[in-house]
Amino acid sequence: MAKTYKAACACGAVEAELTGAPLAQMYCHCTDCRAWLNAPVHAATGWPEAQVKFVKGADNVTLYKRTEKSWRKSCKTCGGAVLVEHPQIGVVDVLASNIQGFEFEPAFHVYYGERMISLKDGLPKYANMPKEMGGDGERVQE
Ligand SMILES: [Zn+2]
Ligand SMILES: [Zn+2]
Repeated sequence: MAKTYKAACACGAVEAELTGAPLAQMYCHCTDCRAWLNAPVHAATGWPEAQVKFVKGADNVTLYKRTEKSWRKSCKTCGGAVLVEHPQIGVVDVLASNIQGFEFEPAFHVYYGERMISLKDGLPKYANMPKEMGGDGERVQE
């Protein structure tokens, strides 16, 4: 049996169930994530969309498309961010901090070129995205 996790908004009105393991775990420093989360950095986990489904409060979710690439979903009640769908690549980014009982093990940083804060943790830092994820793969200093 694949492991399952619950990811909930701040008030708990919206819950998503995640099955199995994410494809990738990372920190995203892009201005779009920061503006949406009102946070200096985003702890992200990318899951195949088939492994993520809303199990509670699906009708209480509001959608914000800051760009067509990222469909950002939040709870209407508390305003808390829940997840970001990337329909063009079939990946759902679930906020690591919302996943109950999940051990966040980030492997790299993306959009470090746009960063507000520096995190000197020795992990690879990409100016935008790794090549395998559609970026140019350019690495930058911590
Ligand atoms: Zn909520
Ligand atoms: Zn981002």
